[in-house]
Amino acid sequence: MPETLIKVDLTKPAPSNEMVHNRWHPEVPMACWVNPGDDFVLETYDWTGGFIKNNDSADDVRDIDLTTVHYLSGPVGVKGAEPGDLLVVDLLDIGAKDDSLWGFNGFFSKTNGGGFLTDHFPAAQKSIWDFHGMFTSSRHVPGVKYAGLIHPGLIGTLPDPKMLADWNAREQALIDTNPTGNLANPPWAATAHAGKATGAVKDKIGAEGARTVPPREHGGNCDIKDLSRGSKIFFPVYVDGAGLSVGDLHFSQGDGEITFCGAIEMAGWVHMKVQIIKGGMAKYGIKNPIFKPSPITPTYNDYVIFEGISVDESGKQYYLDVNVAYKQACLNAIEYLKKFGYSGAQAYSILGTAPVQGHISGVVDVPNACATLWLPTQIFDFDINPSAAGPIKHLDGSIDMPISYDLK
Ligand code: ZN
Repeated sequence: MPETLIKVDLTKPAPSNEMVHNRWHPEVPMACWVNPGDDFVLETYDWTGGFIKNNDSADDVRDIDLTTVHYLSGPVGVKGAEPGDLLVVDLLDIGAKDDSLWGFNGFFSKTNGGGFLTDHFPAAQKSIWDFHGMFTSSRHVPGVKYAGLIHPGLIGTLPDPKMLADWNAREQALIDTNPTGNLANPPWAATAHAGKATGAVKDKIGAEGARTVPPREHGGNCDIKDLSRGSKIFFPVYVDGAGLSVGDLHFSQGDGEITFCGAIEMAGWVHMKVQIIKGGMAKYGIKNPIFKPSPITPTYNDYVIFEGISVDESGKQYYLDVNVAYKQACLNAIEYLKKFGYSGAQAYSILGTAPVQGHISGVVDVPNACATLWLPTQIFDFDINPSAAGPIKHLDGSIDMPISYDLK
């Protein structure tokens, strides 16, 4: 058996574990070291460090302090890795922890986090998903069951000082265009967890450390559902040892992770192997990570595909805006699923968690971008195809997702 280099105890608070961290900074001390060619296991908390519970209330989703996330296992130092190399990471296997065979999906309150469709779903809501081996189903979302396309939402290498300074400068410049607009998240010392760092180094990481919310050049929070077990990823290396960290495991996710309080979020473990391609960044012209897909994916191959264009629900015209177009495709799918008896929240949760595909279909036909959302038909217990007979309401509305309104 490969050695488990980082362990997490789900009964203890994540900030008490010095093998995890929640900020990106070149001075986060390596949690452990490995050699090229080694394979090993890292356990991870769910991205919130266990804040979201397996219960029937959405109060935790409403009340979470989003400056605490994401709790990442690492950084793992790889001996011999130097700036300019590529770190090759094989995701040999990924699983849930034996004492935590469940995950959560939710929507943040519009006043704390929001999300892709927050104007339509402004209150905190949550669904719990149970794992049955490689399959999942939810007591809050009946009539649907599917195989997990399990992956880390977040995996990346440490930035060097210049890259970190560039990140902070460019994101602050964006924030400055609309300081109350929640455009990005600047460093936030109060809830920074710097792993093994102490004293002045810890304070420096708190003051300067980049938040883990966005994807960046080093990978990070890419939330790519296809970066699943069996994938091989090639990361740029910016610091000696590379400093690989991973967390935010997802049992399953639809393209876009549109629900934002995640995919099906879980605690778990990653079995991985690391190697180095010396000078690989220049050899292959790499600026952002590249990866090879897994040979194993669920074979859902029949879909109902929803189109969306860059005209929003109020009728406003946007210029080739793929974000608006994908939003419309998602809203169209939600309206369709409601005809079978789902609540809007349940339909939204399915789009955020199931192996739903999102495609950019056209970006040149002015003024409308076209995006499509591919909803697999085989994940449902009943036929969702359109027909002359019309949709049959299979669900009676007696089960819905817990909702928590803001205390104001
Ligand atoms: Zn996640």
